[in-house]
Amino acid sequence: MQTIKYDLIVVGGRVAGSISSFYASKEGLDVLMLEKNPEIGTPVQCAGGVSETFFKSMKIKPSPQFTCSRIMGARIHAPSGASFLTRDPIIKGYIVERKIFDKHLAILAAEQGTEIMLNTIAKDLIIKNGKVKGVIVKKDGQRFDIRSEIVIAADGIQSKIARKAGLNTRFKVDEICSCAQSEMVGVNVKKEIIEFYLGDRIAPGGYLWIFPKGDERANIGVGIRRRKWNTKSAQYYLKKFTSRLDATEIEFNIGAVPIGGPVKRTYTDGLMVVGDAAGQVDPLTGGGIHIAAECAKIAGETASEAIEEDRTDAEFLKRYEKRWYKSVGSNIKRSHKYRKILNQLNDEDLNNLVESLKGKELNLSKLSLLKLVKDYPKILKTLKEIL
Ligand SMILES: Cc1cc2nc3c(=O)[nH]c(=O)nc-3n(C[C@H](O)[C@H](O)[C@H](O)COP(=O)(O)OP(=O)(O)OC[C@H]3O[C@@H](n4cnc5c(N)ncnc54)[C@H](O)[C@@H]3O)c2cc1C
Repeated sequence: MQTIKYDLIVVGGRVAGSISSFYASKEGLDVLMLEKNPEIGTPVQCAGGVSETFFKSMKIKPSPQFTCSRIMGARIHAPSGASFLTRDPIIKGYIVERKIFDKHLAILAAEQGTEIMLNTIAKDLIIKNGKVKGVIVKKDGQRFDIRSEIVIAADGIQSKIARKAGLNTRFKVDEICSCAQSEMVGVNVKKEIIEFYLGDRIAPGGYLWIFPKGDERANIGVGIRRRKWNTKSAQYYLKKFTSRLDATEIEFNIGAVPIGGPVKRTYTDGLMVVGDAAGQVDPLTGGGIHIAAECAKIAGETASEAIEEDRTDAEFLKRYEKRWYKSVGSNIKRSHKYRKILNQLNDEDLNNLVESLKGKELNLSKLSLLKLVKDYPKILKTLKEIL
């Protein structure tokens, strides 16, 4: 390592961390990215669904090195077994191999000049006169200080680092979706279509997904939210579903997604928080890659402006929050409302709703939702919140 002081330290080496680092390095900052694991991208805690807009917006080529399959549509299954298909453009994207994808993002950051320190846990913050001035790390059993002008906390759900700076990044149990996922071989699934299964007996408060990876390989996962009557885990619901398949498991992982919306404040003196750590996740789907990337880009660029103007104070960093809110805030808000509507529907409602759409191709625009209301007046009351 050449320096013990950096312009920027980024804690966490996945999507939010690598993209923040990439943009800050690109703008000429001296950046150090810390990752507690010995390898970027593992253990995997993701189904790998990435929208087409991510690649366009980040100007990253969807290379076959890390994309497994192309996605053109989604099929939604009701508890009754009825289903409908949507090929809405917002569904279009890829299933990526997260281990390779995350590494690719880290490589892009490193190529811009980001230094990466693996096996290094950020334990605490260095705070001077109320301002974050670096990170206390533990590596190879040793604790030491690394100073910086700014820290970006990209350390995932329940970010401890942002909390050390006084930001409330704790999510309530109700705002967390617990997930379990198996990658399986021998899954008879349609190419280019992702499948979602709804219902209390399948995934209480959430959904089960099948994301095809090509060659009869797929990520099958379940995300559930706390329900008073449910004592079973996401793993239980996953096994219940996969035990009926004639398929073999080659990888298993568990994880959690914050689906309650972003934390109240995402900046303070000398620190910004980004990605899952900030709750920057779509509350309806639990997808976080695209939103984390947009916000991380803004965080990296804001860090560069702050260093250039020698203004790392909260008043200056406030622009990060304003900008990311302008960029993705309304989408998150809308998804939050959709999530609230979905929460109110019981299995019978879901059956009726999907039954009324069976065999149709649904476009997810507002216009088509209005048409949907005509066919299914019961949800008009709740849809009023959105339209
Ligand atoms: C089962 C599951 C399936 C999902 N599927 C999808 C999907 O298909 N599409 C989608 O868009 N989103 C999906 N998500 C959500 C998506 O994975 C996250 O939103 C996204 O990975 C967030 O990235 P991040 O960089 O903010 O955080 P993380 O991916 O959590 O990365 C945080 C990193 O910080 C490191 N770290 C933490 N603390 C420290 C510390 N103190 N010091 C150093 N390093 C530290 C961690 O090791 C980790 O590498 C899924 C989530 C789960 C759980």
